[in-house]
Amino acid sequence: MAEPTRIAVVPVRDGALPAGAAETVAVAAGRALVVGSGARGAVEGLAGVATRTRWWDTPGFAPGTWAAALAPLLVDEDMVLLPGSPDGRDLAPRLAALLERPVLAGAVEVRDGRVATSCFGGAVLAEHHPRDPVVVTLQPGTGPAHPHPSGDDTPAGTTEELVLDAPAGPEAEVLEVLPPDVATMDLAEAPRILGGGAGLDSAERFHELGEVAAALDAAMGATRVITDRGWVGHERQIGTTGVVVDPRLYLAFGISGAVQHTAGLGDPEHIISVNTEPHCPMMTMADLAVVADANATLDELAALLGDGAAADGGASAERAGA
Ligand SMILES: Cc1cc2nc3c(=O)[nH]c(=O)nc-3n(C[C@H](O)[C@H](O)[C@H](O)COP(=O)(O)OP(=O)(O)OC[C@H]3O[C@@H](n4cnc5c(N)ncnc54)[C@H](O)[C@@H]3O)c2cc1C
Repeated sequence: MAEPTRIAVVPVRDGALPAGAAETVAVAAGRALVVGSGARGAVEGLAGVATRTRWWDTPGFAPGTWAAALAPLLVDEDMVLLPGSPDGRDLAPRLAALLERPVLAGAVEVRDGRVATSCFGGAVLAEHHPRDPVVVTLQPGTGPAHPHPSGDDTPAGTTEELVLDAPAGPEAEVLEVLPPDVATMDLAEAPRILGGGAGLDSAERFHELGEVAAALDAAMGATRVITDRGWVGHERQIGTTGVVVDPRLYLAFGISGAVQHTAGLGDPEHIISVNTEPHCPMMTMADLAVVADANATLDELAALLGDGAAADGGASAERAGA
């Protein structure tokens, strides 16, 4: 019996790959279809993972139109994989509807015909053994770093441009594209994160952390201890059973650095940790380790941001809660 076929569909904007793109291509044994503005340049970001890539450079983000153009190329694929990024989650159900197959959303593992999806905020793993073709979205941070063996003799790294007619699909009218709101954006996509742990003393302190984060153009995250207390929602939990992130800057307030937390941190260029315990793992990992009370440090930061905000009419002060 022929091996089931897999292919990754990777939507890109302005040549930027979404979170989880390389892993999705890895799970698809290196076969990828990259679509969007700057797709040609984005293909370079998949070097070392993609073995056979086709790309379609097309402006804007038009998931209805893209699905209509791509579906005919995907009918014979047993598993169509997309990264579980915002655009991947938008495109996946449209492709599934046109291909008349189900979507398995939020997969954390795809292996040997088995797909495990994360449900109820990571509390439950559901196992699927699809016999018929499916579309799968893969949660960023959960896939392998290298491609599975593809089983064919295609030379590594071949790329091919696609020239597709774009049949008008059902498309919403785009009035304006706004930059993401750091307070609500997908944590996996955030370039700067302020994380809080059990060293912060109250739910109100997390409100303050969120406001300081917003004033610094950063997103707010937390450890599981905090989400279990209900002080912030589970979608803000960083770690193996939360969101896997990959910020450039991570500021940790009162976080010990347990492996279940740090395994979900990606590879930040800079880590700053504020903790009263100088030898805990988070402090050891940090580029700048501040031995101090995290609550007082946060108050100080809020006050400093408040001072700076006087110059801009107090808007930042309001945001920083100062
Ligand atoms: C199956 C499983 C899955 C898990 N998944 C996750 C996950 O996805 N994400 C996750 O985060 N955890 C996860 N955990 C929990 C993880 O093991 C740790 O318990 C958790 O990360 C610890 O959170 P914390 O650092 O906030 O708390 P603690 O470990 O209690 O650390 C608190 C830190 O605050 C410091 N501190 C105390 N007071 C102050 C102060 N005033 N100022 C400054 N610092 C102070 C302490 O020195 C300490 O370092 C998981 C555990 C299991 C068993």
